Amino acid sequence: MKLALVGIGKIALDQHVPALTASADWELAATVSRNGTVEGVEAFTRIEDMLAARPDIPVVSLCLPPVPRFAAASAALRAGRHVMLEKPPGASLSEVHELQTIARDQGVTLYTTWHSRQAHAVAAARRWLAGRRIDSGRITWREDVRKWHPGQDWIFAAGGMGVFDPGINALSILTHILPRPVHLTAAELDFPANRDAPIAARLAMTQGISADFDFRQQGPQTWDMEFQTDGGSLALRMGGNLLEIDGQPAGGEDTIMGEYPALYARMAELVRGGASEVDLSPMVLVADAFTLGRRITVEPFEF
Ligand code: NAP
Repeated sequence: MKLALVGIGKIALDQHVPALTASADWELAATVSRNGTVEGVEAFTRIEDMLAARPDIPVVSLCLPPVPRFAAASAALRAGRHVMLEKPPGASLSEVHELQTIARDQGVTLYTTWHSRQAHAVAAARRWLAGRRIDSGRITWREDVRKWHPGQDWIFAAGGMGVFDPGINALSILTHILPRPVHLTAAELDFPANRDAPIAARLAMTQGISADFDFRQQGPQTWDMEFQTDGGSLALRMGGNLLEIDGQPAGGEDTIMGEYPALYARMAELVRGGASEVDLSPMVLVADAFTLGRRITVEPFEF
């Protein structure tokens, strides 16, 4: 199937283009980006122009930051195209609900992807936790924003989500592997004095689960989740890629290269089956953190 990729930035070039190139399902037929291009692929700067010029492209994959996402997604859906969304699927819950309605009315696929759910050890963790009672859990998601998001000012603008941009990956794993749903009970959000999105956050959730997200980590980076249950302990390390049971290695592989091929395989399946997949549960926890969170002003941040 022909596909157009929209928003040619870091993740499009690092992950989407290699996954599409390696897939037998997909042909990257066009790009839409104000500056970015992919060699040998027809490039547009406005999505409306691409939709008008290329009626032969049935699928659009959006790698834009969350704020400009809705306008592009709704234009593609209204033009009868199937749409795949990078995480988080939008800047607000209500706009994604609206996309869902448009997709249903148009009879096309909408897929809200959560790439971290495809990490190597996530499925095994979900199987192990099924039927066990969670007594407590601790998520530590600490990374260096200058290393992973160099110069991306949008991430600290309103709607950019700040530290929840990586933190929502942890929440996407959490909401996928827990046998029972959690909800947020309290949060503290650290906002740099010169920015409109938090640089760090601490969350408390039901089932004794807490989360510590921080964008200021220097040195080793940490993407860990640890759970105590009535039947032993489980840890996921390296962003869901490595599994430990009762403190011992229990499988996985420390690479993220399988995540995007799995997302595109799922999109092909959804389009062929005429189905959609929309799960907003990770984003509900983030929205609740902004609703319930106590705001703390911290020192200004510059890239
Ligand atoms: P990025 O490098 O800033 O790329 C996004 C691209 O979108 C930009 O290069 C820009 O290309 C285009 N764009 C259009 N309107 C824009 C606007 N108003 N502000 C900024 N850019 C705009 O960002 P990214 O890291 O690829 O992240 C994009 C999405 O992927 C985010 O939702 C993020 O959460 C997700 N993601 C990122 C990573 C990662 O490691 N970076 C991993 C997984 C998922 P033009 O200037 O050419 O239009």
